[in-house]
Formats: sequence, C-alpha cells, structure tokens
Amino acid sequence: MTNRIMRLGIMGGTFDPVHYGHLVTAEGARYTFGLDQVLFVPAGKPPHKQNAQVSDPEHRYMMTVLATLTNPYFEVSRLEIDRGGVSYTVDTLRTLREQYGPEAELFFITGADAILDITTWKDSDQCLALAHFVAATRPGFSLDHLPESTRQWLARYKDRFHILRVPAMAISSTEIRERVREGCSIRYLVPEPVEHYIRRQGLYLEHVPQSGTSGANSCR
Ligand code: ATP
Ligand code: MG
Repeated sequence: MTNRIMRLGIMGGTFDPVHYGHLVTAEGARYTFGLDQVLFVPAGKPPHKQNAQVSDPEHRYMMTVLATLTNPYFEVSRLEIDRGGVSYTVDTLRTLREQYGPEAELFFITGADAILDITTWKDSDQCLALAHFVAATRPGFSLDHLPESTRQWLARYKDRFHILRVPAMAISSTEIRERVREGCSIRYLVPEPVEHYIRRQGLYLEHVPQSGTSGANSCR
C-alpha cells in the first residue's frame, strides 16, 4: 500500500555499485525531512552516462536491494529499469506523483555534483514543480560556486530547494570500480553483502592488468 506514505524520499542514481555515500545521504534526508520512506530508484539508462559503460541493471538493482535490506525505511523501485529507454527524472517524478497521489510530498535527493547541471535536465522546471529537491553536501563538489545562471534559476524555487549537510564520505562508485579492478580492498566502502555480490559475480574486473603494479602497494 502506498497511500499512507505522505512524505516520500526518492534517491535516484546509477548505483554501480551502491555505497555508503548513498546510504548516509538517504538516511540523512530521511531524518532531517521526516520522510516516511526513501525509495531508491536505480536508473535504467542514465542520461548523463550514455557513452559510459554501465553494469547490467539487474546487478545494480540487486546490489541496491542488498544494501538497503536492513533499513525498514528504505525500498528499491524497478520503475526506471522496467520502463526501459533513457531514465529521465521528470518521467519518474510524474509516475510517482500519480502512484502516491496529490497530497504526498515528494523529496528528490541528490548529491551536490548532480545539482551543478540541474538546469540542463529534461523539464527541470517541471521537476521542481513535482518535488522538493534536496542537495546533499559531497566532498569535492561545492555548492558555493554555482554558475550565476543556476543560482538565479534555483532562487526561483527557494522554498523547494534544500541543502542538506551529511557526514562527508569521499567515496564514489567510479573509485570503487577502479579499486576492484586494481585488486584493492573495498571493505567498509560498501555494505558487506554488496562486496560479496561484486566478488561472486566478478563485477568490475575488466582491464585488470595481467601483471605489474596492481597489488597491496598501489592501493590507497
Ligand atoms: P559514479 O562515480 O559512477 O558517478 P556516484 O558515486 O557518483 O557514481 P551515482 O549513482 O552517480 O554515484 O549517484 C547517485 C546519487 O548519489 C547522486 O545524486 C550523487 O550526487 C549522490 N552521491 C553519490 N555519492 C555521494 C557521496 N559520497 N556523498 C553524497 N552524495 C553522493
Ligand atoms: Mg555520479
């Protein structure tokens, strides 16, 4: 039943793989905004990563399920994966608005990096009309130096746009994929079941150097 959920968080992402930066951000948004649920929505095809190699959606979905299992407030949605095609946030927000009804308040949660190019998103005005936007602090991405045009655009939505301070996690999926490829530890960067899944499925192993510098000494 979805109609009891009045304050819904939506955590979009590629989750290739999901890591503690995502989880700490979603949990921070949950308690700060009193959310009834946070829905993790793995992208089918992320619009900004169309030239990049992205893992099979079923792997990304499964890892997100494993990572969120122990938090009763977290759920994972197959909406973007099952819709197929490029995953635009505006389409997802429209669908969720229909599913959860006009009274529900939607909170779309992103990291600071995602906000930097928000004015280029498909129907960005519509996105802000459909949901509050929560921009979580992320090491390496400052919201203090937004381009003037973005700042002006966001100023129009000052009641809908919120900055959220979360414990700093200098982690990215890109770095985790590289660490796996290089044979470095990813322990304590991702939940244990996610690490096991990555190892069992042999994810992120391509381009492993046959010999050479990979190994304990090159790992940070
Ligand atoms: P990649 O390096 O592949 O882009 P990522 O770590 O940025 O991966 P995404 O799946 O692209 O992860 O991110 C999903 C959402 O989570 C985005 O809104 C992103 O800004 C946010 N996010 C990711 N990592 C962090 C982090 N360490 N702290 C805060 N927000 C984060
Ligand atoms: Mg990213």
